[in-house]
Amino acid sequence: MSATGAGLAVRGLAVSYGGVQAVDDVSFTVEPGEIVGLIGPNGAGKTTTIDAISGFTVSRGQVELAGRSLTSAPAHARARAGLVRTFQSVELFDDLSVRQNLAVAALPVRWWGPLVDAVAPRRGRHADVDDALDAVGLLELADARPTDLSHGQRRLVALARALASRPRVVLLDEPAAGLDTDETEALGTLLHTLRDRGIGVLLVDHDMSLVLTTCLRIVVLDFGRVIATGAPDEIRRDPNVVRAYLGSSEANS
Ligand code: ATP
Repeated sequence: MSATGAGLAVRGLAVSYGGVQAVDDVSFTVEPGEIVGLIGPNGAGKTTTIDAISGFTVSRGQVELAGRSLTSAPAHARARAGLVRTFQSVELFDDLSVRQNLAVAALPVRWWGPLVDAVAPRRGRHADVDDALDAVGLLELADARPTDLSHGQRRLVALARALASRPRVVLLDEPAAGLDTDETEALGTLLHTLRDRGIGVLLVDHDMSLVLTTCLRIVVLDFGRVIATGAPDEIRRDPNVVRAYLGSSEANS
């Protein structure tokens, strides 16, 4: 389905809620190391697309990762296969430190875990946690509690948590929302780091300058359907996209 078969391929994705066709026949790919933007007006179906790809809502169509079909896999199996998402709302465990919040995601709980640890301690996984915190510039806050952090820092911790599980492809739902200028800059740097490490990124965000400057390719949704796919320059000039989205004031809010 995808050009190389190494990344994420979505074909004919469809979700309906009662009479609302929230996502309608959506197809696209995200290759390793590629940042793909998914944009569109409020209610266009962006979050529902992420919900469907990650297995958080019932959908029709096909989802494939690294050549393997995940169409019938539940959400936790998709995450374990390397298809990891973030949410618009940040859910952190306030009783755990920042580092422990990431460790929960990085260390899968399995019955044989303690046995493996006894023979070969999983130092690599703990390194993943600090590495992910370093990538979002928050390593010095590793021992802090989430309640001590700003809203933007909490969002970056949630992002780092998604990275600590060593994803192949991350689905980011409005990661820039609520970030200040410095934090948005840190996010941009992080996105480039992900790209350099060969991780594919699907980026949903209303911050058009972030999307237009970081994405190689952009998919535009309107009323659940893909109305355009192309490079940022093509998308910026596409009359359908300007009419449906870029011409409206919300796009730059
Ligand atoms: P925004 O930019 O505002 O986050 P979006 O592009 O992410 O919007 P979705 O949240 O995916 O859009 O919504 C797509 C459509 O599906 C909308 O018409 C919305 O009202 C509807 N919808 C989303 N979730 C549900 C649900 N759980 N039950 C019923 N309808 C829903």
